[in-house]
Amino acid sequence: MLKKIFSALLLLSLCAIHSSGQGINTAFKIIPLGVKGGDDESNLSSYMIAPKGSEKYVCLDAGTINAGIQRAIDHQSLKGISEEIQRKQIKGYLLSHAHLDHVAGLIINSPADTAKNIYGMPSVLNTLRDKYFTWDAWANFANEGEKPQLKKYTYFPLIGGNTYPLEGTEMKVKAFELSHGNPFKSTAFLISHGESYVLYLGDTGADEIEKSDKLANLWQNIAPLINSGQLKAILMEVSFPNEQPEKQLFGHLTPKLFYSELSKLQSLTNEKALKKISLIVTHIKPPQHNAEKIKQQLLLGNILNLNLIFPEQGKLLTIN
Ligand SMILES: [Zn+2]
Ligand SMILES: [Zn+2]
Repeated sequence: MLKKIFSALLLLSLCAIHSSGQGINTAFKIIPLGVKGGDDESNLSSYMIAPKGSEKYVCLDAGTINAGIQRAIDHQSLKGISEEIQRKQIKGYLLSHAHLDHVAGLIINSPADTAKNIYGMPSVLNTLRDKYFTWDAWANFANEGEKPQLKKYTYFPLIGGNTYPLEGTEMKVKAFELSHGNPFKSTAFLISHGESYVLYLGDTGADEIEKSDKLANLWQNIAPLINSGQLKAILMEVSFPNEQPEKQLFGHLTPKLFYSELSKLQSLTNEKALKKISLIVTHIKPPQHNAEKIKQQLLLGNILNLNLIFPEQGKLLTIN
C-alpha cells in the first residue's frame, strides 16, 4: 500500500516537473520572410513564428511570402518546396494593418494557398474585404464581401485585450491597438506559447508625435511579463533616420523615438529585465544609405544597452 502511494506521488511530481519545465523552457523560432519597410517588393514585412520544435507557424504580417520562403530554404531555415511550405506550415496570417507592404504577399500568393484564417482587428479585415479581395482588384478568396465568395480564407476578427487560440497551432494571440498616423490604426500582437511570450508591433508612431496613449497602454500591459522573464522578444519598427522631419514621419519611428518609447517601458520594469529581451528591429526603409544610417544611429544611441537584433530575410532567429 505504502509503495503504491509512493509511486503515485512520484508520478505526480514527475508530471509537475514535466509540465512546469515545458512552460519555462518554451521558446520560439522566427523566420523573417521580409524585413524592409518599402521599395523592394521581394522583402517586405513578414515574420513566420512557431514554438521551437514545431512546424506549425503563423505569419506576422504578409508583405512578402514566396520570395521570403525561397530565401529561408536557401538558408536551410525551412525544408521543402515553397508552395508546400506556404500551404502546410503557415496555419494563418495576422495582419497588423492593411497597408500594401504588409499584405501584398498574401494577396498575390492566394491562388496557390490552402484554407486558413486571417486574423486582424475588424477595421483591417474590412479593408481586405472591401478593397483587395474584390472581383475588381483580384478575386474574393475570403468568406465575406463580394460574391461569389471562394471561402478559402476565413476572417477572424480580434477584439483588443481578448486572448484567442491560433487555429492549427499551439499558440495564442492578444491584440493591442497602435497609432500609425493618427487617426489611422495599426496593431501589436502578443503571441504566447505556454508561459512564454513574443510581442510584435506593426507600424507605429511615438505617442508624443501621434498625440496618443496607445504605446503607453501597451507598455503598461506587457511590463509584468518583462519582470517575470516571460516576454522573450519584441519586434518593433524603426523606419526613418533621426533627420526625418516630425511632420514627415507618417506614423513611424526614428532611432531617437524608438529609444524614447523603450525608456518609458524600462521605467515600468525591474532593473536589467529589459536587457534580457531580444529587440528585433523591423521595417527599416530603403534606400540603403538611409538603412545604414538608421543602424548606426541605433547602435550609437543604445545607452540602455539593449540586445538589438537586425533580422535578415530567410535567416532563422531562435528566441530562448
Ligand atoms: Zn509598413
Ligand atoms: Zn503602414
